[in-house]
Amino acid sequence: MDEMQVTCPACGALLGVPPDAAGRSVRCGSCRHRFQIPATDSLSEDDIASLLDAADDKVDLAEQAHVDADEEPSLGSTIVASESIDRPTGVRLAKLGPSAAMFEFPAKLLREASFRCTMPRTCMRCGARAHLRPHVIVFASSLADKEALRSLLASGVLICCEPDIDRLYGADLLKHLPHVPNASPPADQPMPYWMCDMCNPEGLVVGQIIEHARTGEKICRLRVANIHRAQEFLTDAGGSEADLAMLAKASDVAQENPWDQVPLVVRQRLEQWFKAEPDEHFIAYVPDRDLSRTEEGMAGLVVSDRRVVYHSHLRHKEAPNTEPIELELAMTRDEGLLKIRTVHWAVRRIAVDREGVRHLRRALMLGKFKAAWR
Ligand SMILES: [Zn+2]
Ligand SMILES: [Zn+2]
Repeated sequence: MDEMQVTCPACGALLGVPPDAAGRSVRCGSCRHRFQIPATDSLSEDDIASLLDAADDKVDLAEQAHVDADEEPSLGSTIVASESIDRPTGVRLAKLGPSAAMFEFPAKLLREASFRCTMPRTCMRCGARAHLRPHVIVFASSLADKEALRSLLASGVLICCEPDIDRLYGADLLKHLPHVPNASPPADQPMPYWMCDMCNPEGLVVGQIIEHARTGEKICRLRVANIHRAQEFLTDAGGSEADLAMLAKASDVAQENPWDQVPLVVRQRLEQWFKAEPDEHFIAYVPDRDLSRTEEGMAGLVVSDRRVVYHSHLRHKEAPNTEPIELELAMTRDEGLLKIRTVHWAVRRIAVDREGVRHLRRALMLGKFKAAWR
C-alpha cells in the first residue's frame, strides 16, 4: 500500500518499491538495469542528471507495465492509475514521494496559455508571496544533457528580470518570458514558476519530454519537489479527484516546518547566532528592517518555543518564555519601531515591518510567552 515510487535511471520506468527499500540495490522490471534507490527523496544533482539522461531514450510507457516473471524477483512497474497512461488527456499524478510529486501530461497542453500559467504564484521553495521572479521550466529531451541544463540555470537565461514582471498575468506575462533555447515546440514555450529572490531554484522543478514509441505522442513529465506547491498546481491544472485526494493527504503529512520556510541563505546566517537545542522548535524570524533585504538574517529576532533571541552586530540577548516580556510598538504606515523589555535586558529600537510584527505576535503566542503588548 504505502509503497514508494522510483524512476529507473536507465529506462525511465516508474517502479513501485517497498518503503524500506531506500539505499538498497534493485533491478528494473522493464529493462533489467540494476541500480541503487536513493536514500532520501531529495533530488541531488546526479538525480537530475539521471532523470534527464533517461529522456534520451524513447520510452514506451505501455511496455513498462510488462514484468518478466523469470530469474530473480524484479520490481513490477506500478504506475498510479496506469490505465490512463496510454492516452492521457490532462494532468495526472504519476509518482508521489514524501517530498516530491511527479506529474505527466500530453505535451500539447503546453500550447495552451492558460495551462502554462498554472504554477502557483508563490515561491516554490519557501512559499513567500513577495519579491517573486518568474523562472521558466525546461522540458528537456534533445537538450537533455545535464551540462546544458546546468548552464541554462546558472546563466539565468530562463529567469526574467524585467521590472514589474510580477504585475503581469496570463498571456501578458507569457509574452514577456524567455523561450527555452534549443528546444523544439511546444517544449520551447515558456511555462513559468516563481521563486523569491532569496531561494535557490536548483532541483525544485525538473521537466522532461518523452515520446511514446508506438504512438509518437509527446508526453511531459514534471517533477515538483515541494508537496504543497505540487498540490496547488494540480488543483489549478484540474487534476482528477483521486489524484487530488492523494496529494492532499501527502500535503497534510508534510507539515510546513517554519524553519524550512526560511530561505536557505537566510537560514545559514541565522545559524551563526541561533542554534536550536535538542527538542527546541524554531517558530519565526523577524528581520531587523534597518538592514537591506540582501542582508536578511544578520540581525533581528528569533522566536522559538523556548526563548526569544535578539541579535545585531553589537549585541546578542536571549530571554526564556518563562519570564515576562514587554513590547512597545510605534507603527507609521508599513514600518515601525519596536521596544522590548525583559527581566534582564532591554532593546530600545528594532526597525520592523507590518509582516514582521504579525509574525512576532503569532510566534509569541505559539511559543507561550508571557508577552504584554502596548
Ligand atoms: Zn529500467
Ligand atoms: Zn523563497
